[in-house]
Amino acid sequence: MTNIAFIGLGNMGGPMAANLVKAGLQVKGFDLVPALQEEAAKNGITIASSAVEAVKDADVVITMLPAGKHVLSVWESIIEATRPSVLLIDCSTIDITSARQAHALAQKLGRLSLDAPVSGGTVGAQAATLTFMVGGNKEAFATGEPVLQKMGKRIVHCGDAGAGQAAKICNNMILGISMIGVAEAFVLAEKLGLSHQALFDVASTSSGSCWALNVNCPVEGPVPTSPANRAFAPGFMTDLMLKDMRLSQEAAAASGSTTPLGAEATQLYSLHSTSGHGSADFSSIINMLRGK
Ligand code: NAD
Repeated sequence: MTNIAFIGLGNMGGPMAANLVKAGLQVKGFDLVPALQEEAAKNGITIASSAVEAVKDADVVITMLPAGKHVLSVWESIIEATRPSVLLIDCSTIDITSARQAHALAQKLGRLSLDAPVSGGTVGAQAATLTFMVGGNKEAFATGEPVLQKMGKRIVHCGDAGAGQAAKICNNMILGISMIGVAEAFVLAEKLGLSHQALFDVASTSSGSCWALNVNCPVEGPVPTSPANRAFAPGFMTDLMLKDMRLSQEAAAASGSTTPLGAEATQLYSLHSTSGHGSADFSSIINMLRGK
């Protein structure tokens, strides 16, 4: 049987670890928050007294933590306690530099490692339908794929160390920009006396079609399941989108890329967040464009 250590049992990590238990794996978990430890224990996860304790007998170690600094500090603290044959997988969304540093830590001791950020949100984490974007060598991917399959439905090997984070950041930059584009079009339509439904019917079947319009439509009505129909309860929070947009801008600066729309969109989400909408769905940015 594969022994898993799972560090970070929050909104995403909690249900992901629970799905590994459901799939018949032995999971030892750790989180700093006692209430999350209790919740995880109810789902069949054995709670360890520390991250180091959790990883001792593990074949695979998974981390699902807020940001790069948390991942590096946990990996630094546990790496020497892991078995030589272990595979370390970080599923958090973090900056590419930290992701590569984490791979280097593992490599120094001869451990296999993957960066494997996800898309699909908490709904995908619960339903085990996440998409994993994976960076790392072929041996690490071949070892990790069967484990990731128990938490997701699509596992894409994007390339070497850091390639998973690169794919995640580029995808979310497209999403952040396209959401604002769709919202601007609806605001313009309102001023021109064009109904929301008419714009939706045309654009969703024309060249304006995209996920931000077809699934996360920022106005009430055309897509009944979109956050606009429930006062912008998320969904995907503005603050998480802002985090990913900032990661895209860090990566752009570090690689010398020009991303003017990415930069502008980052500023707009930042403004939206500081004006009190950080925990609303990011499509609520339409209200800022309306001047509300
Ligand atoms: P979260 O804050 O709910 O969970 C993170 C957990 O890490 C917390 O429970 C925290 O206590 C724990 N933690 C922090 N430092 C720790 C340490 N040293 N040892 C043990 N536990 C520690 O966040 P989340 O929503 O689960 O997101 C996790 C990651 O997944 C983030 O990088 C996020 O950007 C990414 N992500 C989130 C979503 C989403 O919809 N929530 C979607 C895709 C990707």
